[in-house]
Amino acid sequence: MRNHRSSLGTLLHHVHVSGPLSRAALAERMGVNRSTILALTAELVASGLVREEYPAATHGAGRPSLVVRPESERVYVLAFDVAVDRVVAARVGLGGPILDRREAARPRAGVDLDTVVGKLAGLGRDLVDAAPPGSVCVGLGASYCGMIRPGDGMVRYGPEMGWVDQAFGAELGRALGAGLPVFVGNEAHLGALAEYKRGSGVGFPDLIYLHGDVGVGGGILVGGKLLGGEAGYGCEVGHMLVNPFDGRPCLCGSRGCLEAETGEHALLAEAGRPPDLAGRDAARAVLRDAAAGEPAATNAVARIGDWLGIGVANLINLFNPAVVIFGGTLRDLYAVTAPHVAARICQHAMPVSRERAKLRLSGLADDATLIGAADLGFAALLADPLPLPARDC
Ligand SMILES: [Zn+2]
Repeated sequence: MRNHRSSLGTLLHHVHVSGPLSRAALAERMGVNRSTILALTAELVASGLVREEYPAATHGAGRPSLVVRPESERVYVLAFDVAVDRVVAARVGLGGPILDRREAARPRAGVDLDTVVGKLAGLGRDLVDAAPPGSVCVGLGASYCGMIRPGDGMVRYGPEMGWVDQAFGAELGRALGAGLPVFVGNEAHLGALAEYKRGSGVGFPDLIYLHGDVGVGGGILVGGKLLGGEAGYGCEVGHMLVNPFDGRPCLCGSRGCLEAETGEHALLAEAGRPPDLAGRDAARAVLRDAAAGEPAATNAVARIGDWLGIGVANLINLFNPAVVIFGGTLRDLYAVTAPHVAARICQHAMPVSRERAKLRLSGLADDATLIGAADLGFAALLADPLPLPARDC
């Protein structure tokens, strides 16, 4: 029985990640015969999780094979993303499409748990109210820009918001009143997993994802598994020490951390911008000015690129990744600093460690963390799809 249920979950997982697949492709991937696929698919169709149909475009003569397609419009999760400057809520369908979304700006300072939870719950309820009749919410997932205790969604430390031991997952679950738990993960951890499943990391089980917001987060996959550490707080690459002697102070209390040297504050300060200036638009303006050859911005980009390259060189020496992916605001930064980053990698990473390492921009752009949160929400369904929880979130 357990085997059967896990086979249902495996089949559903394949179409969730890869999209429509023929019975033959599913049989090959799962190592079972086609009649088993037929039986499993029939159960999932009866439950409204997948449907079978002819592919939209076919080539060649003869009748095309049916494909198994996830019921993306009907079966969804609510996904939430708490970033430094914004909060996002989305209805994400089985198979990964973002069906609907709501977004709100949030101030950086003085934002307490109740305010954030209240805002997110309001956005979530709006999404559910706007969902088509007959849709089913099967889970809730959230991404948070801080260190999250696995299991209960407790924010142990959120440096940008000053949160320590805040019961974010539990409170959001209560505010939504859906009778479903909210699974919470660190934004960069979730971004790494999302890029591996659907973005620039597909096919690379040994990858490093670097997520820029105001600071820098990291997610490291080894053999396709997230390197969580002893208690789930691993991969804090933003606090890797790169400049201990005259480094900039970091929010963590140390100085010279990678994020202190490469984050938004460092970029604006190096470019000589006013000390009260902040925000993604201001950082982008520096990058634009550097591309146009403005001297202070050009020097800032060179220095920040140096530090970023030193950090990545350390990671390449340590983990020998197949790919390093730059996400969030690091997409913008890497696009401008790539030559500096490459020079430092060449100088500091050992040839044997770096020779196959690719450097890529995030394929999911600003939605990597949100898509990762959605996958947290889908995890229970994919582990054991039946019976489908017919709850109205
Ligand atoms: Zn730090």
